[in-house]
Amino acid sequence: MKKRVYNFSAGPAVMPEPVLQQAAQELLCHGDDGMSVMEMSHRSSMFTKIFDEAEANLRTLMHIPDNYKVLFLQGGASLQFSMIPLNLMQKGHADYINTGSWSKKAIKEAKKVGEVNIVASSEEQNFSELPQIDAAKMNPDADYLYIVTNNTIYGTCYPELPKPPAGVPLVADASSNILSRPYDINDFGLLYFGAQKNVGPAGLTIVIVREDLIGHCPANTPTMLDYQTHADNGSMFNTPPTFAIYMAGLVFKWMLDNGGVEAMWETNKKKAALLYDYIDQSGFYKGTVTNKAHRSIMNVPFVLPDEALNKPFLEQAEARGLVNLKGHRSVGGMRASIYNAMPVEGVQTLVDFMREFAQSHR
Ligand SMILES: *Cc1c(COP(=O)(O)O)cnc(C)c1O
Repeated sequence: MKKRVYNFSAGPAVMPEPVLQQAAQELLCHGDDGMSVMEMSHRSSMFTKIFDEAEANLRTLMHIPDNYKVLFLQGGASLQFSMIPLNLMQKGHADYINTGSWSKKAIKEAKKVGEVNIVASSEEQNFSELPQIDAAKMNPDADYLYIVTNNTIYGTCYPELPKPPAGVPLVADASSNILSRPYDINDFGLLYFGAQKNVGPAGLTIVIVREDLIGHCPANTPTMLDYQTHADNGSMFNTPPTFAIYMAGLVFKWMLDNGGVEAMWETNKKKAALLYDYIDQSGFYKGTVTNKAHRSIMNVPFVLPDEALNKPFLEQAEARGLVNLKGHRSVGGMRASIYNAMPVEGVQTLVDFMREFAQSHR
């Protein structure tokens, strides 16, 4: 086998190596089941066990209260841009905070369903920080307040969650920082994430939703877009992405075996500090997030002093086994995504390379 690289991709992204090894071992024959997980009926007792364990472990990891449903869906995080307004816009108007490409896409879809009030936006700053939120601009009668907890492209993350007015549920896209730090589920009406950043393979989207928010769709809502359909059928109204759920379950187990979310958070903070501290004192690289308090510990965007250096930087990094560092086109420069599964050694190797590159290109 060729040597594995350090993969800094924003998503699909690095997976924990022990998880991949276990999946490889079980690929032909899972336990005593006599077949691969891919070959199991989603209604079989053998798959039900895998499914129930995955959900139970996620509930343990995130301390999910009993009055919240966990739905295992498809359609990516992007389908939630539509499902959320279709299910939650009972009164027909919602508040949104615009912090980047993903919130813009969500806003675009919500406008097709009802009235959207943009409470705050940092678009004029090219989303290089999070906007100041004026609580007076929030609608106390809104169906929900929508945020993106961690902006994958711009590398910003709320140090503390915005607080909606009393009675207005907070709805959050946590695709790129779920399970990277503790969150209190009670702060949310609905929290969702695509799996391919911090949880598992692409093809699975998990929605954690408070029960009282389910069941209010207009009658003409397509069955598959109604949370009630999936809640009533234990996410088995149709065939769920069985193999992706199995892989996510292995990741949840790996996290539990390694100290849970709290331990991940400690390590993530160390990894991020290693990289940001070096960037800040390098006198060469520059972080693109303008307010340091808003820096993400998952996605670290930075630029080199001269764009002409981007190509040699990427080439030499790749030769060292440090791949997918190219930044998103809307920010430029580099972006290192350092999700839970990225080991500290990966970040240390990157910093060592960056130091050598800076020394030879000053
Ligand atoms: C990646 C990402 C998405 C889009 O996910 P898909 O599964 O491709 O639809 C949405 N929101 C955030 C914050 C993301 O990082």
